[in-house]
Amino acid sequence: MKAYQNVLIAIDFSESADQVIERALDIAKQNNAKVSLLHVVDHLPPLGFGEEPLIAPDWMIPEQQLMDEAKKSLNNFASKYSLQSSEQQVALGTPNVEVVRIAEEKSIDLIVVGSHGRHGVRLLLGSTANGILHHAKCDVLAVRIKE
Ligand code: AMP
Repeated sequence: MKAYQNVLIAIDFSESADQVIERALDIAKQNNAKVSLLHVVDHLPPLGFGEEPLIAPDWMIPEQQLMDEAKKSLNNFASKYSLQSSEQQVALGTPNVEVVRIAEEKSIDLIVVGSHGRHGVRLLLGSTANGILHHAKCDVLAVRIKE
């Protein structure tokens, strides 16, 4: 089997993120692959009547602030695994859509996700993982999250 060269790890900062990155790093090491970390800030403006976006109310956190905080969190998370020099990216949008889009943009050959993340274990496969599995053009590994 051809070795993987570019592994993208989808990090949601849930409790299961450690299980995801540990498995992904094992595989990256075995394949001598480059590792990239990605977090997607899932931020949708509230819709008004007729689905027109409302003017953001005062309590809403500005997107730029969410992105900056996510960048810091991703950097801290990377440091925990001595990955400070690895590629880290924060995107804004719908997580499964952005993960698939960025994987294509970066010529990723393996995406690693958790079977479940912040949306809990209600489904056999979480909705983000499911969306990625259905739409990615490369291989996808869904790490079975142990409770
Ligand atoms: P879910 O399907 O939302 O329960 O999450 C399953 C997996 O999808 C997580 O373990 C992550 O690998 C990935 N994921 C979910 N949300 C995000 C996000 N906002 N950014 C990056 N990866 C995510």
